[in-house]
Amino acid sequence: FLPHLVASMEQVEETYIMVKPDGVQRGLVGDIISRFEKKGFKLTGLKLFQCPKDLAEEHYKDLNSKPFFPKLIEYITSGPVVCMAWEGAGVVASARKLIGSTDPLQAEPGTIRGDLAVQTGRNVVHGSDSPENGKREIGLWFKEGELCQWTPAQAQWLRE
Ligand code: GDP
Ligand code: MG
Repeated sequence: FLPHLVASMEQVEETYIMVKPDGVQRGLVGDIISRFEKKGFKLTGLKLFQCPKDLAEEHYKDLNSKPFFPKLIEYITSGPVVCMAWEGAGVVASARKLIGSTDPLQAEPGTIRGDLAVQTGRNVVHGSDSPENGKREIGLWFKEGELCQWTPAQAQWLRE
């Protein structure tokens, strides 16, 4: 019985990260994936995908009363997206920090939106805002069998 191992396992979270159509069209996929990879989180799902309208509406259902909602759905379905599931202790909040503020002009330099975007309506990447939404969104965007559980070779060099 290894109490420290149990404690660290309890903190493992999942987040849904997506390169939006503008990020794919602008050739930013590699840069964006690389930031999460280099940080040390574990990739458990990855695919290029043309999002149907009903899935976009379900994903963003909390925003369906906003005036920009129709434009948001049009944007997200306008071309392929890259869907990702990432795992690790604290990954949800950390990914939001790596992504930066919703408005790219307010996002800090060094963040994805701060470095790579200029407008809220073209902010290149999505990240879940809570562990609950991480699970919900991974369930929406991935089918069973599309996710991989694996142990990265570098695991022992990332955490004591
Ligand atoms: P996020 O969690 O930082 O992505 O931001 P929200 O959950 O508040 O909004 C979801 C997405 O809707 C944002 O990433 C934007 O793509 C889009 N969005 C939010 N607010 C606006 C807005 O005022 N105008 C437009 N055009 N899009 C918006
Ligand atoms: Mg959000």
